Amino acid sequence: MRIDIITVLPELVLPFTQESILGRAQKKGLVEIHVHNLRDYSTNRWRRVDDYPFGGFAGMVMQCEPIDRCISQLKSERHYDEIIFTSPDGEQFDQPMANELSLKENIIILCGHYKGIDYRVREQLITKEVSIGDYVLTGGELAAAVMTDAIVRIIPGAIGDEQSALSDSFQDNLLAAPVYSRPKEYVGVNGESWGSVPEILLSGHEAKIKEWELAQSMERTKRLRPDLLKK
Ligand code: SAH
Repeated sequence: MRIDIITVLPELVLPFTQESILGRAQKKGLVEIHVHNLRDYSTNRWRRVDDYPFGGFAGMVMQCEPIDRCISQLKSERHYDEIIFTSPDGEQFDQPMANELSLKENIIILCGHYKGIDYRVREQLITKEVSIGDYVLTGGELAAAVMTDAIVRIIPGAIGDEQSALSDSFQDNLLAAPVYSRPKEYVGVNGESWGSVPEILLSGHEAKIKEWELAQSMERTKRLRPDLLKK
């Protein structure tokens, strides 16, 4: 899989894609992530990519031409399954969308900035508009990072233990069961006991542990996110 991210702030996005699971997935050859500086596609002497909006509104708008030039260049090199624009009025990003996008061959994620992008770009070039939540960010970079992270970690082989991606929250519309590590008993720095790890997890009885995990998932989903059980 290949993900191309277009942004005016590559220095913000690039380091994120090079660390941890995303960095390792690229080294293993499971995914290629390319970050493009939109200013490289500006024909303006000062590498500007924005201008005042028509109509006298406040803020600046990203112009058609640099985006057109950048996306046209990429499209001339390969076919893209999806050209995504990050936008608060887009379709809400969730686990099923991450699963679906992780099966694509090539995708572009365009990060907006300022007041947004010239609407004609959205009409002419964009195939999918995605929001990461009902709040407004200063730019699409964090949204692109969130989406890329969620997409890449479920590519088979990206996470060491493959089972672990499948047992995460939202896969199967269930929240994950609690997890514990050593020590079995923990005494807090203030001297009080924090209790012990559920006995069943120490039993080594695989089937019983699976049963416990499912029961915990069901209980937590019912209590914290009953809406998921209706899906
Ligand atoms: N004027 C726009 C918001 C502009 S915010 C509006 O009211 O809809 C600047 C850019 O940040 C947007 O173009 C978008 O690319 C990005 N952005 C902001 N909030 C976002 C969100 N919740 N999800 C995805 N992208 C977002």
